[in-house]
Amino acid sequence: MKEKECPKCHNSQIEKGMIRSGNAVVQMFSYNNARSLSSPISSYYCSNCGYVLGLYVENPGNIEK
Ligand SMILES: [Zn+2]
Repeated sequence: MKEKECPKCHNSQIEKGMIRSGNAVVQMFSYNNARSLSSPISSYYCSNCGYVLGLYVENPGNIEK
């Protein structure tokens, strides 16, 4: 999925980023199985105003239910 335009300033330069905590990429885990496989969370943000458009689990199929 790709965001195309910032809803705040209508800039079309949307960049992809990874959400990190220190040196670690923040991961999404199954709520019911925190020891299961996980997936990194990525985000899209506006390169003009910095608005964060959304968070995406990179590999949702990897997360065990
Ligand atoms: Zn913007």
